[in-house]
Amino acid sequence: MTDTPTSRAASLQHLRRQKLMKGEPVALPLTLASTYHLPGDPKDFNQYGRFDNATWEAAEEMLSHLEGAPCLAFPSGMAAISAVFFGLLKSGDRILLPSDGYYTTRVLSERFLSRFGVSFDLGPTASFLDGGFDGYRLVFVETPANPGLELCDIAAVARAAHAAGALVVADNTTMTPFGQRPLDLGADILVAADTKAPNGHSDTLFGHVATRDTEIFESVRRWRELSGSIPGPFEAWLLHRGLETLELRFDRMCSSAGVLAARLKRHKAVEAVRYPGLPDHPSHNLASTQMLRFGSLIGLTLKSAETAEAFIDGCELLQPATSFGSVHSSAERRARWGDAVAPGFIRLSVGCEPTEDLWQAIDRSLSATDR
Ligand SMILES: *Cc1c(COP(=O)(O)O)cnc(C)c1O
Repeated sequence: MTDTPTSRAASLQHLRRQKLMKGEPVALPLTLASTYHLPGDPKDFNQYGRFDNATWEAAEEMLSHLEGAPCLAFPSGMAAISAVFFGLLKSGDRILLPSDGYYTTRVLSERFLSRFGVSFDLGPTASFLDGGFDGYRLVFVETPANPGLELCDIAAVARAAHAAGALVVADNTTMTPFGQRPLDLGADILVAADTKAPNGHSDTLFGHVATRDTEIFESVRRWRELSGSIPGPFEAWLLHRGLETLELRFDRMCSSAGVLAARLKRHKAVEAVRYPGLPDHPSHNLASTQMLRFGSLIGLTLKSAETAEAFIDGCELLQPATSFGSVHSSAERRARWGDAVAPGFIRLSVGCEPTEDLWQAIDRSLSATDR
């Protein structure tokens, strides 16, 4: 069978079937267990809830199928990122992080990694390759970077970083396995917050690490086992359910985002639009080759903080909320968190509402706040 994102999406729905015995439920059972019936030799049996759980193993199996690489599940995106850092780094290592990427990764490094003798530098995503990667143990990329939606060339970063002896970690949260495939582009490790589109219903935090390197996989797995950073079975069950519709949801989200971005660009109340699918995005050519889809996030700049807040509050199809990737479209003004963006900059997360209804609601609220 050919291996494409859609063939993977199709076979994903039938992964469980291959293991089913006659009479077993088609849907995944929720296995709540801290201990297992375990007389005698424990080898090759479920041992204890911190090591084994059938529900998170089923979620991992789906994630591995989608990533085309072995995956480890974590209780959140940050738990997955922490597992990579604490499972692989040692005192004296230097790492490079994006200055414009997910804020918490930087704070984690500043507060905790530095205490263990791991130092870090910051580089802007759009010029991440400048200066090279000599002296780094690990290089962390996030493209498109959240929230500014700048891009960097993952394959070029991987080539340069590998030549300098560094590992490449890619945070693929904004894109999902259906939008971008960093491991195929040369990254050694992928991390993602399944809290966003993979779960997609604003009710669960989850994360995963994917890698084709068995040594890295073992280190991260051991970190999880020893640190106890394990996902809850119910959260894994919810993610498992969410993943069944990810391809469908992400397809609608990205298609709508493309339509909305082009129309927002022409709207008189809008000062600027940032979307990798628009020809005027500074890295549009790279986006067209590196990404399978242009994503579901749009950066939108309105006149002022007040206009932006009024637009969000006045739009009945936009949920004011932080985070992104859910079935319901959401928006927030990022300067409220201190991001280095204009006061009227909004991160718009396009959800699964029918495109034309969503556009009309956005257009109405924009026009009302522009008066
Ligand atoms: C949300 C997010 C994370 C962290 O995920 P949590 O599940 O909230 O811990 C990491 N990276 C990116 C790019 C994110 O958007």
